[in-house]
Amino acid sequence: MSIQANLKEVQSTLPPHIRLVAVSKFHPIESLQEAYDAGQRVFGESKVQEMTQKYEALPKDIEWHFIGHLQTNKIKYMAPYVAMIHGVDSFKLLAEIDKQAAKAGRIIPCLLQIHIAQEETKFGFSFDECREMLEQGEWKKLKNITLAGVMGMGTFTDDREETAREFQSLGDFFLEIKQKHFADEPSFKEISMGMSDDYPIAIEHGSTLVRVGSRIFGERNY
Ligand SMILES: *Cc1c(COP(=O)(O)O)cnc(C)c1O
Repeated sequence: MSIQANLKEVQSTLPPHIRLVAVSKFHPIESLQEAYDAGQRVFGESKVQEMTQKYEALPKDIEWHFIGHLQTNKIKYMAPYVAMIHGVDSFKLLAEIDKQAAKAGRIIPCLLQIHIAQEETKFGFSFDECREMLEQGEWKKLKNITLAGVMGMGTFTDDREETAREFQSLGDFFLEIKQKHFADEPSFKEISMGMSDDYPIAIEHGSTLVRVGSRIFGERNY
């Protein structure tokens, strides 16, 4: 199937309030252009250099979402144009994004990445680490970022119930911190969860942004 047909098929399964981030990492510019021509405007990339090259080559009404693991020294390259950064998992990174956003004269929406999977990885706040960071309150002084919600990745598993539990836990956590810290901030509204294999489950559990790659662009070679 063509990228255009894949995109249509995915879009047709999404409720109207759910936004699709087309994850185009490792795919060539031509594939992104094809998705663009089919109407897609939100793209997700996981390497700053690759995203910046694509940003430079493609139309300027694209929203670029950074979904990869962040390195402090790369933030400055995307600060002038990135629409949302999904993977923020420390106060230090948030402060660095704020600093680079200020230099670029922008306010960058960021999502707090929460570790919800059973797999051991070093990425993402635990629920408690995130609570602590929010309680501590230093983030309120950062004027060039907005906290726009949370992001998480489920365990890579065929166990649909496990996946559902993990997504539910992120949905519950979102509501908890929304109530406690962002009750008066309508911009804290995103739950970024769900990928090619599990996005329908994520939607059942409150996702607002799904990050779908291979189902649109085909398998990646990496
Ligand atoms: C690669 C990636 C995706 C997309 O994965 P697919 O299985 O190809 O849909 C989504 N989110 C993150 C964080 C990724 O790194």
